[in-house]
Amino acid sequence: MSKKQYNINEYNKKRNFNATNEPKATEKKSGSQNRFSFQKHGASSLHYDFRLEYDGVLKSWAIPKGPSIDKRTKRLAIRTEDHPLDYIDFEGVIPEGNYGAGKVLLWDKGTYENITQEDGNIQDLGKAIDNGHFLVKLAGEKISGGYAMTRINDDKGQWLLVKMDDDEADGRRNPTSTEPKSVKSGKTLEEIQ
Ligand code: MN
Repeated sequence: MSKKQYNINEYNKKRNFNATNEPKATEKKSGSQNRFSFQKHGASSLHYDFRLEYDGVLKSWAIPKGPSIDKRTKRLAIRTEDHPLDYIDFEGVIPEGNYGAGKVLLWDKGTYENITQEDGNIQDLGKAIDNGHFLVKLAGEKISGGYAMTRINDDKGQWLLVKMDDDEADGRRNPTSTEPKSVKSGKTLEEIQ
């Protein structure tokens, strides 16, 4: 088992809510929707935060290069602490000196379907994450179709995100470079304030 903590207490511990506009995690909400988002985050190093709504929180990974829609491309994803549901469409500036300081843009949003199977049945997503492998079908504005997430190093929280081979796979498109704008405000990261 990983020694790392990924729960919502860890989220609050890292942040000073007098200094950042990010939502504070209060009691866990009972979430039954299956929303996902990618947030482009201009922190000390640029990355895309991948968030999946599950059991009242957002399961989260930081993906340095963001999602690819080319099935031949593997993208490193670093597991981060669970975020509160209200974070799913957060956009704004995390001030200097705070955890994750920098601009955040809602790069994509939509819903997902857990398609992880075990013995011919859909496996619970939380269990699949704990086991280090899951499959989701995304229906976003920029990103859609199946994605596989596989843990490669538990101690470092390292996973790989790979596009599954389906109709939405396309080696010619690269939306992280050609579609940089927010799906919430239409702004680029530079324009966020
Ligand atoms: Mn981030």
